[in-house]
Amino acid sequence: MIDGSPLAADTAEEEFPAAEVVSTEPPRIHRLDESVVNRIAAGEVIQRPISAVKELVENSLDADSTSISVVVKEGGLKLIQVSDDGHGIRLEDLPILCERHTTSKLSKYEDLFSLNSMGFRGEALASMTYVGHVTVTTITKGQLHGYRVSYRDGVMEHKPKACAAVKGTQIMVENLFYNMIARRKTLQNSADDYAKIVDLLSRFAIHHKNVSFSCRKNGAVRADVHSVAASSRLDTIRSVYGVSVAKNLMEVEISCSDASGCVFEMEGYVSNLNYIAKKTTLVLFINDRLVECSSLKRAIEIVYAATLPKASKPFVYMSIKLPYEHVDINIHPTKKEVSLLNQEVIIEKIQSEIESKLRNTNDSRTFQEQKAELIQSTLIATPSDLPVSPLPSGQKLQKVPVQKKMVRIDSSDPAGRLHAYLQPMSQSQSEKVSRLNVVRSSVRQRRNPKETADLSSVQQLIAEIDSSCHSGLLDIVKNSTYVGMADDIFALVQYNTHLYLANVVNLSKELMYQQTIRRFAHFNGIQLSDPAPLSELILLALKEEDLDPGNDEEDDLKKKIAEMNTELLKEKSEMLEEYFGINIDSDGNLSRIPIVLDQYTPDMDRVPEFVLCLGNDVNWEEEKDCFQGVAAAIGNFYALHPPLLPNPSGDGIQFYTKKKNNGSSQENPNSGGDVEMEEILEDNLLSDAENAWAQREWSIQHVLFPSMRLFLKPPTSMASNGTFVKVASLEKLYKIFERC
Ligand code: ADP
Ligand code: MG
Repeated sequence: MIDGSPLAADTAEEEFPAAEVVSTEPPRIHRLDESVVNRIAAGEVIQRPISAVKELVENSLDADSTSISVVVKEGGLKLIQVSDDGHGIRLEDLPILCERHTTSKLSKYEDLFSLNSMGFRGEALASMTYVGHVTVTTITKGQLHGYRVSYRDGVMEHKPKACAAVKGTQIMVENLFYNMIARRKTLQNSADDYAKIVDLLSRFAIHHKNVSFSCRKNGAVRADVHSVAASSRLDTIRSVYGVSVAKNLMEVEISCSDASGCVFEMEGYVSNLNYIAKKTTLVLFINDRLVECSSLKRAIEIVYAATLPKASKPFVYMSIKLPYEHVDINIHPTKKEVSLLNQEVIIEKIQSEIESKLRNTNDSRTFQEQKAELIQSTLIATPSDLPVSPLPSGQKLQKVPVQKKMVRIDSSDPAGRLHAYLQPMSQSQSEKVSRLNVVRSSVRQRRNPKETADLSSVQQLIAEIDSSCHSGLLDIVKNSTYVGMADDIFALVQYNTHLYLANVVNLSKELMYQQTIRRFAHFNGIQLSDPAPLSELILLALKEEDLDPGNDEEDDLKKKIAEMNTELLKEKSEMLEEYFGINIDSDGNLSRIPIVLDQYTPDMDRVPEFVLCLGNDVNWEEEKDCFQGVAAAIGNFYALHPPLLPNPSGDGIQFYTKKKNNGSSQENPNSGGDVEMEEILEDNLLSDAENAWAQREWSIQHVLFPSMRLFLKPPTSMASNGTFVKVASLEKLYKIFERC
């Protein structure tokens, strides 16, 4: 239309009023009418009829009711009526009952951290009055009669009227979404809202076993949920979910308070081998709040898939209790999703409890174990030329590391030393394997329940980590944003208006050390596909250090050192296994290393150095020194060092091209095959290098930084040893830009 094309101008004028076409002024901003704001907010809290039912039932529970009954008409769109026998609402509170942000459950901010009611925002009732017609009938203790009053848009429509009432409160919501036509239309077509409400009430019923629940359609004689207060939990499950569920359940229980500060209790019921279902049912309450947790659900499904021969999905009822300050309930307006401190540890413990229960009650045990082994070996043995696997949410594609293709013999070649023994796994493969190992080795731990983490030297090491923590750096670690890698060692991070360079090697070393100490004696393992002989690993490491290779005397000496160290480590194997999850078999092969951070596998090229360091650098005489030494060796091994192959995306590319040129410039006709061979090797080397660097960068962004935010306590020394370097203040940069 700007270029005057008649077609464009015509269509524009047809669709828009002339003023808008000609005017170049931006649209005016105006304040939304308060009732519109409230209706939008209400639409978020009450998304479907089921959200209204949940809020109303939670209010009844908060009012100490012992009996709650729900009546629903047309899936809740026509009527939702919740009646309870709770403490009722005072007459003088009725005028503000349905105003936004009026609540009896919270008076100051700090109360949020010791809250044991389900509600606290004072938004639910208010929201309902903006999207439906709400009528409240209530009576408080000692009164002769009750009151009834209706609300619209947060306010009473009339003065409360005296009326006859039975103990408690009845809240009626009629014509839900009467003023939100689009939403009403989409909901009208959905027949399953009532089914969802029944499911919700079933869940409440089995958790709150001292409250009797009923739920029925308006006019129906029979209730679709009917539970009786004060029966046992299993009885409630039977009456709500049926005999076929209840008879196939096993009780599970955990009470945990370990040295790392992970405190929680869990009790519940999980289905056994005989239970058959296509869909998982997870009824989860955290601190008595009905919530969803997809990572826990997935974790439990994995246990069932790995343990049971039949592909049945589990039924799980689980109640988890945590210190209130460990749960953040404030993250979602409907309080449905919660975030927990120590979530990954909690999930691992739950997995292992369920797995051990399943195995103990499982008759065909050998069969299952075989199956689990099978899963593992197929995962490990997956060929290297797997297709590139896409990662979720637009992350960079990660190439599957090249494996087992060759054993490198060129000593100037710094990589691939272990390809003969170890096959590094792709992120997703190793994740699956580690999950299975999580299951397996935690069962092993449970079979030998020694309260090893109480050893006072470990407590001391934890206390040292805590006491040397630098509060300023801690704030930076917790609240900074990862920008990208500035070079091979330093990452650029933004903290408020400042840019810092952060040394990822130092930081990851410290993080891995601290995690090793925290997980002391509670490690899950990464199984090596082929056990690696310690003596050869040590020899490799010694050769790597050697400045004068080929000296026979020195070689003998190296062999001696390797033998002695192997013997030493074999002697210490029981301790290494029990406390650090490092498995050395009786033939002196390294066969398992610990998982220090979930979803992270260390660079296997560093195993020789690690083993040498265990043998040489650890003081095995003093308990505390010894633990610290082993943890430091693990920390150094697992740290995110730059890969040994030079970075091909920088100057390092010369390393690959130079070699290639040398190879092809030899114009010896007889060596044509060799040249070709060499070229293939160089190409492989280059793609190995690309993989290794890409994987490291991925781990830095997606594993290291998120984990540091959760776990790292940066020691004071990091403030002065160059781990953090401030490079710029954005305010100053902005000022400079302004002047430009
Ligand atoms: P919240 O539950 O977040 O406090 P609501 O809007 O759900 O906010 O409820 C507002 C207040 O109304 C509650 O704090 C409570 O004092 C009162 N209330 C609501 N429902 C009931 C009920 N069934 N019995 C007694 N009091 C109730
Ligand atoms: Mg509420």
